[in-house]
Amino acid sequence: MSADVAAHVDGDALWADLMAMAEVGATPAGGSRRLALTDEDAAGRELFLRWTAAAGLVPRTDRAGNLYLRRAGTDPSRAPVLVGSHLDTQPDGGRFDGVLGVLAGLEAVRALDRAGVESAAPIDIVVWSNEEGGRFPRFCTGSAAFAGVTPLDEVRALQAFDGPTYGAELDRLGWSTGEEPGATRPAAYLELHIEQGPELEARGVPVGIVRGIRGIRQLDVRIAGKEGHAGSRMTGRLDAGRAAARVIEALAWVAEEDGAASVTVGRLELDPNAPSVVPGRAHLVADVRPGDLDDPAPLVAAAVRAIEEAVGDLGLTVEIDERRLVYGPIAFDDAVLDPLRSAAARLGEEAVELVSPAGHDAGHVARVCPTGMLFVPCRDGLSHHPDEAIEPAHATAATRVLAEALAELAA
Ligand SMILES: [Zn+2]
Repeated sequence: MSADVAAHVDGDALWADLMAMAEVGATPAGGSRRLALTDEDAAGRELFLRWTAAAGLVPRTDRAGNLYLRRAGTDPSRAPVLVGSHLDTQPDGGRFDGVLGVLAGLEAVRALDRAGVESAAPIDIVVWSNEEGGRFPRFCTGSAAFAGVTPLDEVRALQAFDGPTYGAELDRLGWSTGEEPGATRPAAYLELHIEQGPELEARGVPVGIVRGIRGIRQLDVRIAGKEGHAGSRMTGRLDAGRAAARVIEALAWVAEEDGAASVTVGRLELDPNAPSVVPGRAHLVADVRPGDLDDPAPLVAAAVRAIEEAVGDLGLTVEIDERRLVYGPIAFDDAVLDPLRSAAARLGEEAVELVSPAGHDAGHVARVCPTGMLFVPCRDGLSHHPDEAIEPAHATAATRVLAEALAELAA
């Protein structure tokens, strides 16, 4: 594969598309608000459909609300190569999270056209439904239905924070028709995304090749003590609040001793939560993430030991449910990573390999077909915020790598 395709990537056109899409649901702070399955989300897709129609792509949908735009291949027997991301945003979202991957997919396809490159395999640009989970209580639901991770009925039953069900909104927008999610099995999936972390920026590198997604476990921790008067003596208390404080500190030490792990207590509830009562019960959630693509089991075991010790020292009892959330780790496939690596090397782009700290649609799709991701740095690692920012040159560089890898995979 020559570098011709990359040479035809028009970074200015991509940037203009990004800025035009940001106007759909634009917020006063400079970001975008296109919550999943709202009229703004639909307006974003309508704009995208105008651009893809101009590029000669043929749209189709699946019953989970995912949208596909096809560039035909010369060999109808070949499975499509999938490239894309999402167009929905958080309530106070930025201009690049998800959008970059979709619009870069379109620019990559336009580059193939300009270069006069036909591919044997068809190429489908995909827009996954409700990646963000900003309006529904779960994220990546379109890709979850596609990959068979979550049954469509379960997705349809999800209730939006503002009332309607996912299914009712799909029906209202006319997005519940088309093929069964997952009916078209792709040959490979590529997703370009902003990093949402500080690593690439700190290293001054324009492109990251993502080897996989870090594993996440959440533990439900319920500490049982005994309520008492705030004026009672300190000796003999069974103070669940104090035990929770020890647990939080002990878990931080577990992570620090590991060196690469992150352990966070982001939710803590005390009962009865009254200023003059010794807490009788504490409920907290420990979010446990090992470094790299490491197996979470040893870290979870260390966290459980630390919790039991911290609570036991004060004479209280604790119940731990280790399966509140079980996600990954997901290792991406060299069948997709190698074309990304060789494209970056051929184009002289300095690319580092890294692991995603956040979940992505690609994490689900990886169950169905070989999958890989590219990252571009985002300023201060910031995302899900109107100030989310990337450099146009980085977007262009990553899209060039994406286009070359896409051409190779679909050749
Ligand atoms: Zn995203």
